[in-house]
Amino acid sequence: MKASKLIKDIENRLSPQRENRHWEAVWMARALFSLTGNHILLDVEIDPDQTQMETLCQWIEKRNQGYPLQYLLGEWDFFGRRFLVGEGVLIPRSETEILVETVLSYFKKRPAPKLLDLCSGSGCIAVTLALERRDALVTAVELSPEAVKYLRANDELHQSGVNVIQRDALTPFSDALWDGIVSNPPYLTREEMDHLQTEVTYEPQMALYGEEDGLFFYRRLTRIWKTRLKPGGMLAFEVGDHQGDSVAQILRENGFSKVCQTADYHGIIRVVTGIWR
Ligand code: GLN
Repeated sequence: MKASKLIKDIENRLSPQRENRHWEAVWMARALFSLTGNHILLDVEIDPDQTQMETLCQWIEKRNQGYPLQYLLGEWDFFGRRFLVGEGVLIPRSETEILVETVLSYFKKRPAPKLLDLCSGSGCIAVTLALERRDALVTAVELSPEAVKYLRANDELHQSGVNVIQRDALTPFSDALWDGIVSNPPYLTREEMDHLQTEVTYEPQMALYGEEDGLFFYRRLTRIWKTRLKPGGMLAFEVGDHQGDSVAQILRENGFSKVCQTADYHGIIRVVTGIWR
């Protein structure tokens, strides 16, 4: 069967409400039959075996019930690289790339930065920083044992040399001082948790919920970790919708200077940074 025919078949079996149907079909075909973009362009011949067809049927059925595509595929792209994902770990989001870009840009002219990623999840931030800056020393902290498995696997997959520590980010673990501390903490509000998109309900609540007003981790992490930054060090947070001003305020109240909010390509504030003293 031609790749294009297989993709069209999958597309037709995915429920019509999915606006991304075509791409979801492409991603499924790519993951299941190890196709590259070129294979698809050349419309290669595919000879699916029975196990692959059964898996495909299961994927389509689960996907039509709102199960996340990324968990079915077991991988997702972030910053142009493949990250392993599955139940128990937050799926990397493209908006988080803005956080990584902001940090990379601040450290562009600073050699061998010591960087700490708190609430690291799949490790997409830590691993990307380590790969984009081979001279950096990157440490990742994650509490959930399920997430740590993915974090270690992603570090290994990319040979990124990240120092992985399994522990609670709300208790500092050493007197080390950092040039940069970065985090995409749980930040959804109670209200948002009550109205999650079906896909997101499969993701770990622990990676999403930032207590009643969504700001719990920003307050705690800022207070706890500010004294572990070198003078001139950067604290960089991803923030949720409409949280930019509140998080900027938290940073200023904690003595950070040059507090800055960065928007994505749609003009939505995604990142808040501050410089320590
Ligand atoms: N960006 C995620 C969402 O909108 C939330 C991730 C987080 O809380 N850090 O579902």
